[in-house]
Amino acid sequence: MYVDGEKIRHKYKTLFKNIDRSVKIINEFSEFLKLLDLREVNILKIMMVRFMIETTNSDAGGLIESVEDSYEFTEIFQYKGNRIIDKDFSSLVRRIQPNTLESKLLDITLKRKIPTISFDQTTKDSSLGKILKIIPCCIIQVPVIVEDNVEYVVELIKKEDNKNSIFSEGDINSLSIISNIASAIFTNAQLFKSAIHDRLTELYNIHYFKNLMVDEMKKVIKFKTKLSLAVMDIDHFKNINDTYGHSVGDEAIKFFANVIRQEIKRNSDIVARYGGDEFIAAFPSTDSQSAYSVCTKVKDRLNSEFFQPDERTKIKLTPSIGIAEITEEDIESAQNENDLFRKIFIKADTALYNSKKTGRNRITIYSNEMPIIQEREL
Ligand code: GH3
Ligand code: MG
Repeated sequence: MYVDGEKIRHKYKTLFKNIDRSVKIINEFSEFLKLLDLREVNILKIMMVRFMIETTNSDAGGLIESVEDSYEFTEIFQYKGNRIIDKDFSSLVRRIQPNTLESKLLDITLKRKIPTISFDQTTKDSSLGKILKIIPCCIIQVPVIVEDNVEYVVELIKKEDNKNSIFSEGDINSLSIISNIASAIFTNAQLFKSAIHDRLTELYNIHYFKNLMVDEMKKVIKFKTKLSLAVMDIDHFKNINDTYGHSVGDEAIKFFANVIRQEIKRNSDIVARYGGDEFIAAFPSTDSQSAYSVCTKVKDRLNSEFFQPDERTKIKLTPSIGIAEITEEDIESAQNENDLFRKIFIKADTALYNSKKTGRNRITIYSNEMPIIQEREL
């Protein structure tokens, strides 16, 4: 049998060159993941698509996510001259229309949960192609599975004039590796999210809040910056549970939490559910007067709006709030960052106690004349 040595050598040379390239890109992806903060899942979504485009030399790619009750391209990238082109496509219709060939391809990917390639008429129907004014000759959809569900689908397209216009087996392998790594990180991010948030209100839980406070206190000690703390509690909350039942009580807590979330909205502010009907907010670089203004917005909103668990029921929720600001004396006398947090927490809690004692539905700033109340477990 005649064997064309030169042809075989060339074939393997190209194959190894492509593999080398893919390995390099996958390595870069894993280096990027080392630096990723688990709270920044949006960045991972974008980078996953970009790395998938690069490793397969695709002409474009997009991230498909379920939005309300349809599927939509939430991120779209074009790849030209070895560069990702950053363009905002948000003004264009990115929804995958039902009963189209494209939606049928998506159904198959969602059902089979493995990469699906299409070369047929479907390619002409690609909304990604239409948005970018590209006529694709090959499409691949890669599912990204998080806890057994297809959470995202990445769609990649190649044009006819692309050097490797058809997705190869090597491409599918690289895409599967990227999708598997990303899916592990998405799963971790979800676990992390549920570990740091309160399930009912979706605010941070007190354990995570305390963790964040360690860093905040370090900053305060090092740079002598200001920080104020507010402790908030719903007035006579027990009455709501007793009158309307525990599940309406839960809804009341959620309503209260939403007002806090909407009114305490500066990026640097940190808000958490302390437990039960109590909440806690830290205001870095903020004195107690400014914290008082923000808390007044919370109180005013609650005083002017009703919590309405059903059409016939209107309930007024009022807050009692205590505020304290870290002083230089606190910093001087604190043994460490935990001790500093303990000091300011007792002060804010004392101020809250004063708000309750003096009639509720009020905000009190701690002053040195107030007798410190008994310290409670944080
Ligand atoms: P005060 O004005 O003095 O704060 O009165 P209060 O009735 O709010 O008193 P207290 O803070 O002691 O009551 C809090 C109640 O919240 C007690 C507890 O049964 C209830 N509670 C704690 N966690 C939850 C929860 O997750 N859901 C519901 N529905 N109730 C809760
Ligand atoms: Mg209460």
